[in-house]
Amino acid sequence: MRELLLIPGPTPVNEEVLKEISKQPISHVSKDFGEYLKSCVESLRVIFGTKTGHIFIIPGSGTLGMEIAIKNFLGKDEKALVLSHGFFGDRFLDILEEDGFNYDKIQSIWGEVIDLNLIYEKLKKEKFSLITITHVDTSTGVLAPMEDYMKVIKEVSPDSLVVLDGVCATSGVEEKMDEWGVDIILTGSQKALAVPPGLAILAVSERAMKKRESLGKIGFYYGDLLRWKPTIEDATKYFATHNTNYTFGLKKSLEIILSEGLDKRYKRHFENATFIRELMKDIVFDVFGNKNFLAPTLSLFIYPDGIEDEKFRSDLKNKGITVAAGIKDLKGKVFRMGHMGEVRKEDLQYAFEVIKEVLKR
Ligand code: PMP
Repeated sequence: MRELLLIPGPTPVNEEVLKEISKQPISHVSKDFGEYLKSCVESLRVIFGTKTGHIFIIPGSGTLGMEIAIKNFLGKDEKALVLSHGFFGDRFLDILEEDGFNYDKIQSIWGEVIDLNLIYEKLKKEKFSLITITHVDTSTGVLAPMEDYMKVIKEVSPDSLVVLDGVCATSGVEEKMDEWGVDIILTGSQKALAVPPGLAILAVSERAMKKRESLGKIGFYYGDLLRWKPTIEDATKYFATHNTNYTFGLKKSLEIILSEGLDKRYKRHFENATFIRELMKDIVFDVFGNKNFLAPTLSLFIYPDGIEDEKFRSDLKNKGITVAAGIKDLKGKVFRMGHMGEVRKEDLQYAFEVIKEVLKR
């Protein structure tokens, strides 16, 4: 039976990447390993849209990247603003709360984006040192209108550092760090980058690095970017052991991504998303969320009456297709299908045929 992993991360991994990961490790402090890191850094700069951004590749998951993005750049007497489109946007609130920071928030209705006037008014009234945005919130499938948000932020609050969570977006949706003026983009290896889970990846602007330096001690030994910076630039300078084999895999996956071509890749993601949504519409599964802000990396399909979530997903699983449940209020009402990274149109067509079979019974 053919197995197809169509959850919104982890996503299927190319055989060539798996081959790289399964090689014998090499010394994490060798010049040879440094060459792997160097290649990843160069490719990631292209993908994040930054010429001068500092790149970090750190063993850990996306949540580590989120916490790093807060604790390295926000002072204890400063305040953050969270722009949230769902569960993963709200995770920044949990981190800020847990780590004892001051914060405020603007939350959209699930499936919608935030009214630009609300952002404008909030930023006019108060100073926020750091603003978080989730590029694609994986709980709602909403794609943040980055150009619009950044226009307001740059106009009203140009000194705020902007953190972008690209976990469910990077390399599936275009990110233009320098052009937009975003200071920190964080992502994970396991989604559109098509490497197994295990690497937190960040790009950090010069201005944000200066801010980090100005904060002094941050009470976060493992996640301190000032400790990671030397060892990313020169692997012979040990701080903590790099994930050697996932870095081999990442290097290969980034080569595959860049050889496809970023424009072609973004177009493919968009077209595949449209393709599966059109097919699903024919069997009366509508897509959740405002149609103007749908992410190309995943879809939330609303169950028509009479289809029971757990049974549907388990029947699909028995036929080799894994999809994900809805989160929080959407649990039981939608299922989530990832279509990013290595997932092809043929895979989606195949999944659709299996879904039809399951529904017939
Ligand atoms: N942000 C987004 C948008 C995500 O989708 C996820 C994971 N689904 C995370 C952050 C957290 O990443 P991780 O589970 O790798 O810690």
